[in-house]
Amino acid sequence: MLIIGAHMSVAKGIAKAAEDVVKINANTMQFFSRNPRGSTFKTYTGEEIAKFQRIRKEHEFGPLLAHAPYTLNLASNNEKTYEFACMVIKEDIARMDALGIEYLVFHPGSHTGIGTEAGIANIVGGLNQAITGNENIMVLLETMSGKGSEIGVTFEELRAIRDGLEHPERVGVCLDSCHVFSAGYDIVNDLDGVLDEFDRVLGLDLLKAIHMNDSMMPFGAHKDRHATIGDGEIGMEALLNVMRHPKLQGIPIYLETPLEDEGHKAEIQMLKEKLNFPQSK
Ligand code: FE
Ligand code: FE
Ligand code: ZN
Repeated sequence: MLIIGAHMSVAKGIAKAAEDVVKINANTMQFFSRNPRGSTFKTYTGEEIAKFQRIRKEHEFGPLLAHAPYTLNLASNNEKTYEFACMVIKEDIARMDALGIEYLVFHPGSHTGIGTEAGIANIVGGLNQAITGNENIMVLLETMSGKGSEIGVTFEELRAIRDGLEHPERVGVCLDSCHVFSAGYDIVNDLDGVLDEFDRVLGLDLLKAIHMNDSMMPFGAHKDRHATIGDGEIGMEALLNVMRHPKLQGIPIYLETPLEDEGHKAEIQMLKEKLNFPQSK
């Protein structure tokens, strides 16, 4: 069973986004939980939500993934920034859980000078005030490229965050192929080694979602620039090997390649052909 989708716009509503998922022959999607570069969000009407749920059920979508805004920095030592981040993560966990979304992914944050350890302590505090332990949704920490003072560039940092949590069972990991490659995990020449490392440090059962992207930047560059599949430094074969890996079967894949819906449709079609999955439903 291949669960594959792309990052979709919810600018015209979440029901429209679900319709678009069907149009591009996908069976899941990622979408922003609110304005990715601000703080606003639209409240969906009961009718809209009912339509969204109907489409999702009828077309047997796999787990859906909401992405928290980029403006959220739970590692920050700036009081305003931190309070904002705490408020947003708490609200969005509750909002997305109420919508029946399976996963909410967020960038752990940038410590902006206070150091990794202090940054991680802030992230842990923010998550502990946000997660009640009674929700169905799982919060996913995204693996980061390590630009600037980003936290989450090593599996150990993600482990340290999880170790501080009161409800670690509600927190998993989203692996971004572009980010790990850029962070210095060699998924091109040693995918087995990287997965063994992930398993040793975190446990592969915590890997709940994969962001599938090629990288414009070379290995270990610590820069976050996505490329379309096959057009970057990771390359087609290495990315297909990730999707084919026996240990990763059944984990939903979300494309975040720099394409609109039509481009994602073609990219998904191409991947299905190369992976020998039936053309479409
Ligand atoms: Fe992300
Ligand atoms: Fe990503
Ligand atoms: Zn990225």
